[in-house]
Amino acid sequence: MMEKPDLLSFTREQLRDYAVSIGEKPYRGDQIFSFLSRGVRYEDMTSLSLALREKLEAETEFRLPTVLTKKRSRDGLTEKYLLSLIDGECVECVLMRHDYGTSLCISSQVGCRMGCRFCASTLAGKVRDLYPSEMLGQIIAAGNDSGERIDKLVLMGIGEPLDNYDNVVKFLRILNDKDGIGLGLRNVSLSTCGIVPGIEKLAGEGLPVTLSVSLHAYRDDVRRKIMPIAKKYPLDELLAACRLYFDRTGRRVSFEYTLIAGENDSREDAKGLCRLLREKMGVASHVNLIPLNRVEETGFSAPAPEAAERFAAILRSEGQNATVRRSMGADVDAACGQLRRSLQNKGKEL
Ligand code: SF4
Repeated sequence: MMEKPDLLSFTREQLRDYAVSIGEKPYRGDQIFSFLSRGVRYEDMTSLSLALREKLEAETEFRLPTVLTKKRSRDGLTEKYLLSLIDGECVECVLMRHDYGTSLCISSQVGCRMGCRFCASTLAGKVRDLYPSEMLGQIIAAGNDSGERIDKLVLMGIGEPLDNYDNVVKFLRILNDKDGIGLGLRNVSLSTCGIVPGIEKLAGEGLPVTLSVSLHAYRDDVRRKIMPIAKKYPLDELLAACRLYFDRTGRRVSFEYTLIAGENDSREDAKGLCRLLREKMGVASHVNLIPLNRVEETGFSAPAPEAAERFAAILRSEGQNATVRRSMGADVDAACGQLRRSLQNKGKEL
């Protein structure tokens, strides 16, 4: 059976073509695009005729996720949503309130097949990719529920965005459309575990998002122990792709470094990381240190509370730009995949 068109995954141009294909004027496509990007249901698109609304209802699919549950951190700064998709699968997104505004971290796949050893999202593998509508839907659902405008978006939730390349790139183009959500792409960060061909391709898309690369080690042998993707793309190739991304887009690359006790948190690791980035990236990088959020099943331990600041101080003393990510919402399972995982572990009884 042919799938019904998923209109929230259509660009504005595609929606105009769709409007014409069903005998409407092109501007109807613009109207529908603008309604959909606010999450307006067909029955509430009252500037459209009743006949058109009924036709859309019958012949298309509305893939807007619904909020299954949400948890608020004790400090009120973090809101974690578990969202249900139309096939019953679920994904997470996390809304965080900062001094500079509200950011939202969204998922790009149901599960993940990348196998990073410290991550809860990959424990049951990948189920499927998300459609552009389901990524936009997370922004719409969290924005409508919280009543807040999303100022910054991070593709760092469940899934590897570059393993769902075409849908993610289309999502970014729809997101950026001024008649839709209209979020500037300089306010978007895309996080990858290091899929080299995806980084190279993204560098040529003309989409000025911040590339955020999970590095986690300065040596290939240590990195391979933490992340299977390192077996395919060694650091030399990965950093050459990052340099290309900087050269093509002018956007400084951000390197994520999760500190894991006894694995990658020594003084030697900090010094080695500086040497590597200086040699391969010059001034074009930033390091974001993330103390591990412990996940029971991984066997890895969180570093001592002062370890991240100590590590950051060594980086800065060597002239490397570095920040420590403030741990937000640990009391609401805010690390990637933990809330969905706890739902799976409880046999769907939250
Ligand atoms: S850290 Fe990201 S890429 Fe790695 S397994 Fe988790 S979701 Fe996948």
